[in-house]
Amino acid sequence: MKPAHFQSMKYPMPEKKITNFQTIVIQFENAAERLKLEPYLRKILRIPFREVSVQLPVVMDDGRIEVFTGYRVQHNGARGPYKGGLRYHPDVDLDEVRGLAILMTWKTALMNLPFGGGKGGIQCDPHKMSPRELEQLTRKFTARIGLVLGPYRDILAPDLNTDEQVMAWIFDEYSSRHGYTPSIVTGKPVSLGGSIGRKEATGRGIVYIIQEVLKDLEIDIKTTTAVIQGFGNVGSHTAQFLYEEGVKILAVSGREGGIYNPSGLNIPDLIRHVQNRRSVATYPYGDPITNKELLKLECDLLIPAAVGGVITKEDNVLDLKARIVVEAANCPTTPIADKILQEREIPVIPDILANAGGVVVSYFEWVQNLQQFRWDLDHINRELQAHLIKAYREVRSLAERERVTLRTAAHMIAIGRVAEAERIRGH
Ligand code: NAD
Repeated sequence: MKPAHFQSMKYPMPEKKITNFQTIVIQFENAAERLKLEPYLRKILRIPFREVSVQLPVVMDDGRIEVFTGYRVQHNGARGPYKGGLRYHPDVDLDEVRGLAILMTWKTALMNLPFGGGKGGIQCDPHKMSPRELEQLTRKFTARIGLVLGPYRDILAPDLNTDEQVMAWIFDEYSSRHGYTPSIVTGKPVSLGGSIGRKEATGRGIVYIIQEVLKDLEIDIKTTTAVIQGFGNVGSHTAQFLYEEGVKILAVSGREGGIYNPSGLNIPDLIRHVQNRRSVATYPYGDPITNKELLKLECDLLIPAAVGGVITKEDNVLDLKARIVVEAANCPTTPIADKILQEREIPVIPDILANAGGVVVSYFEWVQNLQQFRWDLDHINRELQAHLIKAYREVRSLAERERVTLRTAAHMIAIGRVAEAERIRGH
């Protein structure tokens, strides 16, 4: 029999297609209602504390000046400094960044880290920019939002299309004005004070959570199959660790499409293939598959690890043939699709739990930077696993007690913690 927290519950049902921000607000309202949160706290937690929007003129390689727009949203800092990634993408806008900042507040609270939540983004297409242009853009952004950053104020990290190199530029630009400050960013190169294990932490954490969920459902991980959308940092590390556990990875994809092999993909070989700047879709050992088709493949674990809003009523949720959905990406499921998944009794491991491994090791990196001390990989992985399993157990037992989904339980725990900090700090 399925545990109670995997059974169907009712959600508010929006009538039209909604944005990631609206999805996140609906998730908040749903949990706030169950917590019977005071009206003033609902208002405080529903909207960000501070939103900064900056112009970013950059001299491009051909001599033109292009003006980009960048955002940093600081949602809530009651439990500690704002913490969250920076993404570069053509679809970035204030609404999206706002939603993701809110999600970060819940994620850090669920993991019980001494952080609040923030998010940043620059509307640009990094695939059409040279390394020099990206460096100029990153440095200009850091200079222009510098006033609201700080190791005890707001700490950045990598996200979609940003990596260790981008973090190194931010660290350098910030330090040139404020003195040596490695703790201003996490996800830095290890040679600049980054933490061992940070790069692969989100993928590793996803696999730790999957192992616990499968144990609860009495499913042997070695008998399972997985389909992964996205083969960047999160997708490729998740694939690698699942492969090492004996999971058969049937398909993976990137922006340009994917590759499907019913006998299972050789993930280390595929990783070598993409490391040579080739796309997943050109891997020769399998059949090409579109991102749309991939999401509908029959599998045990469906792992969206790319962009938000990909599991929707319009596109696919009625045709999904997965046994469990694991939200490696932020906000991949719209509320209406979420409700349909509940009705179809397909459990969803929510983003703020599934992909929190990155921010947990970011916390370890920040602590190591502040202490000027290095932890080894075993210590980091042990602590990471302990944090994630503790959070999963808390979520699971609240879900069973309240007979709600894992998502609602995760939000109730997180929002409850932030609300308590707000009440005690006073106004
Ligand atoms: P990334 O830039 O390293 O990789 C993104 C991958 O998604 C690439 O393979 C890209 O080709 C693919 N992709 C992009 N647009 C797509 C589309 N429209 N359809 C299908 N595939 C597409 O990014 P990442 O760091 O791996 O982040 C992936 C997701 O995980 C994001 O939603 C991010 O917010 C979330 N996340 C990342 C971290 C982290 O530590 N990096 C932590 C928590 C959550």
